[in-house]
Amino acid sequence: MKIYIDGKYFGKDEAKISVFDHGYLYGDGVFEGIRAYSGKIFKLNEHITRLYKSAKAILLDLKMSPQDMEKAVYDTFRENKRDDAYIRLVVSRGSGDLGVNPANCKVPSVVIIVGEVNVYPKEFYDNGITAMTSSVRRVAPDTFDVRIKSMNYLNNSLAKIEAINAGCMEAIILNHNGFVSECTGENIFIFSDGVLKTPGATDSALEGITRNFVLELARAGGMKAMETHLTQYDLYTSDECFLTGTGAELMPVTMIDGREIGDGKPGKNTKALIELFHKEIRKI
Ligand code: PMP
Repeated sequence: MKIYIDGKYFGKDEAKISVFDHGYLYGDGVFEGIRAYSGKIFKLNEHITRLYKSAKAILLDLKMSPQDMEKAVYDTFRENKRDDAYIRLVVSRGSGDLGVNPANCKVPSVVIIVGEVNVYPKEFYDNGITAMTSSVRRVAPDTFDVRIKSMNYLNNSLAKIEAINAGCMEAIILNHNGFVSECTGENIFIFSDGVLKTPGATDSALEGITRNFVLELARAGGMKAMETHLTQYDLYTSDECFLTGTGAELMPVTMIDGREIGDGKPGKNTKALIELFHKEIRKI
């Protein structure tokens, strides 16, 4: 494994970041999780755009052009000689002192890791997963806008721990207004009376790249799709539910808070979208 750190490659055991990096001390930084299929990187441009938006929102000057960042990701991917991969691109505030003031961090650290894809077991996709509403709320946008894909995932980790402890695979997180936002590492969709619905980004959901692609695919395939507020009631009474993310791709959800979704099996529209998704990624 060759790990890129600030323009140089290191082996797994040698790849190290300073303990004075504010990414480590304060979770101060941004990241992307990217996927490569059959030797090609999926939606890299969209990931780089989101990374630069996240960095701009936290006043993090990447000191590198988006084109150079894209090249660094491609070069590291090629160095690692994998066809299918999960790529983690992390930009942290850089090394400073122990105080919280990021002005003392002069140069951000750029890390690119090309790892294997940890696919969920096939039965999850075949049967769907169980989810629960978390007691952990999303932070409000006037505290921290979760459209910033930051290194601060404690909110998500706590919700995930709660779900796993309760015997569920995933947690559904409500926002400060009580509307559904998303899950711990995936966006959420439902089909209700034939219409595909997902919360808008201003309901405290990450603007997922898979989410946007699924909305595009659905509309191109003639489905009616919309971004709208959703409550727990909408989820419980939906005909189908699924999650989207770079790692999980499209994952059916068949039980939420003890309520069976539809007939308790992955729905036909969900299956059609999964098929469409796999057909499209083969074309990239
Ligand atoms: N929401 C959260 C909180 C995430 O971390 C992610 C990425 N794992 C997603 C949604 C899905 O986004 P994407 O489709 O861009 O991977």
